[in-house]
Amino acid sequence: MSVYVVGHKNPDTDSVTAAIAYAELMKAKGEDYIACMQGELTPESALVLDRFSAATPEIMTDASGKQVALVDHSDIAQAPDNLADGEVMAIVDHHKIGDVTTNNPILFCNMPVGCTGTVLKTLFELNGVAITAQVAGLMTAAILSDTVNFKSPTCTDADKAAVADLAKIAGIADTDALFMDMLAAKSSIDGVPAKDLLNRDYKDFDMKGKKVGVGQLELASLDQAAAHRDGLYKAMQEQKAEGRHSILLMLTDVVKEGTDLMVISDEPELIEKAFDAKLDGNCMWIDGMMSRKKQTVPNLQNAFGC
Ligand code: MG
Ligand code: MG
Ligand code: MG
Repeated sequence: MSVYVVGHKNPDTDSVTAAIAYAELMKAKGEDYIACMQGELTPESALVLDRFSAATPEIMTDASGKQVALVDHSDIAQAPDNLADGEVMAIVDHHKIGDVTTNNPILFCNMPVGCTGTVLKTLFELNGVAITAQVAGLMTAAILSDTVNFKSPTCTDADKAAVADLAKIAGIADTDALFMDMLAAKSSIDGVPAKDLLNRDYKDFDMKGKKVGVGQLELASLDQAAAHRDGLYKAMQEQKAEGRHSILLMLTDVVKEGTDLMVISDEPELIEKAFDAKLDGNCMWIDGMMSRKKQTVPNLQNAFGC
């Protein structure tokens, strides 16, 4: 009977690649393990599988009557449906311990590190199984993704050491470049209608009786938005015409750590005052602006006298 290896719902790169890597480890030990996932690939995960020529795992969302191994989670809510009607054979994870229980002893390997990929590297070593270049590439990508290129507070020395080793095995010369490619895929906006982009992450605020809308797009580079600016401006105009005093769109460059702020307002000078910057046409660069909640909105509230 095959064992289905599966990550959490809304699979991220770690969940997808950990399923592949753990299935490969068990296959190397002569076991019949199949890598699965609970939903479609994200653009980032699709790029990673393509980059390392890995097959797309099959979709599996119901554990009833199946033997399963869980990776990147141990919570029933994140696991395949009807887990109680299946049998959990192993758990490999890096989160707090969840609520999955078993009737039999199983392999349960959880480490307080930044990524399941880092845990899996240890498991390959414990089992004396060589990591292939392909699997090493997938694990490298997962660690970069989960630790946000080592910037996340969840990142540990073990994650950095794992990437150093795995990148060598995979023949990845520049892990920063790989991360940037992944970030570009994650923040891809091509083919998405401007109105949807404006509203992808958008909120309206009441500023002393004036309705102010603020949207945000997180980008690897402002170049990604270049071809979309006219469309976005038009979408902003239409949305402002629905009775708003101002509408702002934050084009946030997560690498340069700043925001190009697109503005349409009845009082543009008030918005300039809010951010102590000058509009060049309909936008202004604001260094260090990353957070709508912690930076953009409080500055607007001050300027509007809220
Ligand atoms: Mg995950
Ligand atoms: Mg993870
Ligand atoms: Mg994640």
